[in-house]
Amino acid sequence: MTEAPQPAQLPVPTPPGVYEHICEHPGCRKWGSFGFARNQRDEPRWFCFEHRSDGGN
Ligand SMILES: [Zn+2]
Repeated sequence: MTEAPQPAQLPVPTPPGVYEHICEHPGCRKWGSFGFARNQRDEPRWFCFEHRSDGGN
């Protein structure tokens, strides 16, 4: 009985309209979980938990 090697699990495909967003705080490379947009026409700005206050105001 031969066990075929399992392929590496593929990452979840990125849904349309969602793209990678890294924290915009200078020098910070963390994932930006918090998006801020002043209005719906603005591109949202993304910040990590630590720096979410950067975009809050
Ligand atoms: Zn950050």
